[in-house]
Amino acid sequence: MNTQIIKVSPINPEHNVINLAAEILKIGGLVAFPTETVYGLGADAFNPIAVRKVFEAKNRPPDNPLIVHISSSEQLMELTDFLPEVGKIITDAYWPGPLTIVVKASKFIPAIVTGGLETVAVRMPNNKVALKLIEALDKPIVGPSANLSGKPSPTSAEHVFHDLSGKIDLILDAGSTEIGVESTVIDITVHPPLILRFGGLTKEKIEQLIGDVKTTEDLKYKKRSPGTRYRHYAPEAKVVLFERSDALAFNQLVQKYIEEGYKVGYIIYSDEIRPDKNLIGRILSNDIEVYAKELFHSLRDLDLQDVGVILVESVEPRGLGLAIMDRLIKASKSKNK
Ligand code: AMP
Ligand code: MG
Repeated sequence: MNTQIIKVSPINPEHNVINLAAEILKIGGLVAFPTETVYGLGADAFNPIAVRKVFEAKNRPPDNPLIVHISSSEQLMELTDFLPEVGKIITDAYWPGPLTIVVKASKFIPAIVTGGLETVAVRMPNNKVALKLIEALDKPIVGPSANLSGKPSPTSAEHVFHDLSGKIDLILDAGSTEIGVESTVIDITVHPPLILRFGGLTKEKIEQLIGDVKTTEDLKYKKRSPGTRYRHYAPEAKVVLFERSDALAFNQLVQKYIEEGYKVGYIIYSDEIRPDKNLIGRILSNDIEVYAKELFHSLRDLDLQDVGVILVESVEPRGLGLAIMDRLIKASKSKNK
């Protein structure tokens, strides 16, 4: 299959491009599209054959359910028969945005979407291309990250092409994504609500609105979100984390891996770390929002430069930093360690 890439304006998506993409979805094809978090791999959520192709293209385990993307609150009511009050409050406040709610699934949703669970994950993305595409199809679309399972999520059309060219019909290219980490996933079928995955919307912002929530760490409920069982976000290179601002640890790690024969790369942000000019790396912003936007891109870039190990400076685990540390810890658990 030849994968087309078409540029589309993020501000004023061209009708002809959106209509072409919607036509592809209508006949069961796959279209990668931008969201404000990362690029998603879209298929008609009510077409089980198309959804199966999403799992195949990504090589995604079948028991890792997909997030269904919607463009209006009415569509939510096609996906569930019951929206708890907290669900109404947080979606009124934070949709469209980087928030995914898990609710009881209506019987109309194909089992392949939910991995056979009784619940479904739903989100309204804050991106005009994504919203227009869903509107044009006039149906919800599934939208897992448009990468190969286990790899860093794609924050540009080039990343999608790198992983999925030849496996999907079309990539809508609207430039780099704004947030750069995935949505926050919260299960509102339980009380208090349970954050299953940290992401673009901080726990603090959710708690401001609906009071205390639990996290899988509080409850050791790891099993509740099927996706968390798998290796994730990992580049080909080995990822090794070190403490914030710890120049000594950084230098020791550099020496150790060079002695072991590795080509060493780094991702850092604090002034204390002063890498040797011969090393390949990225110095990211210490503004956590800018850092998040650049992280996956930097991991992929260093991979393209064939480094064998990437030393990554840890970030403070609060706010968006919780989502980032979650990704980095998972990336560091790669199979080749
Ligand atoms: P992805 O689209 O790959 O960024 O990941 C979607 C995330 O949502 C994964 O961590 C899934 O396990 C989680 N998820 C999707 N549907 C459900 C559900 N019904 N219940 C719990 N977690 C879900
Ligand atoms: Mg993903």
